[in-house]
Amino acid sequence: MRRFLRAALALLTLPLLAGVVLLWHRSPDRADALFLFAPGGRLQGVASHRGQLLFCFSSADFGPDRAFTATTQTSSATEFDEVRKAVADNLGPQWARAGLQFGVSKADAFGVTGAKYALAVLPHWLVLLLVLPLPVPWLRHAREMRRRRTRRLCLTCGYDLRATVDRCPECGAAVPGAAA
Ligand SMILES: [Zn+2]
Repeated sequence: MRRFLRAALALLTLPLLAGVVLLWHRSPDRADALFLFAPGGRLQGVASHRGQLLFCFSSADFGPDRAFTATTQTSSATEFDEVRKAVADNLGPQWARAGLQFGVSKADAFGVTGAKYALAVLPHWLVLLLVLPLPVPWLRHAREMRRRRTRRLCLTCGYDLRATVDRCPECGAAVPGAAA
């Protein structure tokens, strides 16, 4: 099961990495946004814009009909500058440094009673750095299995099986390719 999870994680990482690279490449001219509606219809958004990924978690409620739905939107980077400005203007406490930004909105954001949101902005390169190590355990495991196979070591425990025909004397695992 752990092996399966590691392989699944490694496989999922590849399209994720490719997606971030593609978005980064487009981001100087295009803004790509994905909006997800959480249970209850609360709007959550991810956007790629000018070398950064923006994550927005809001309490803006679009009703239960929108719950568990998603929509995408692409605009020019210049158009999205206006959105960025509005989001920035409604921010309250925030922290920003080296292309990173974290903040929470003022109360009643955008003049809507009770509306609030949290914003996290990360550069694409940082997201890549965070995602890149995910497949490493899987790659390491795959390399170890290859090593054990070529040296005729037990795949389960690594014991030397060159003098063994059917079962590993150390852990009892069946020797691959041995006659049953
Ligand atoms: Zn063994």
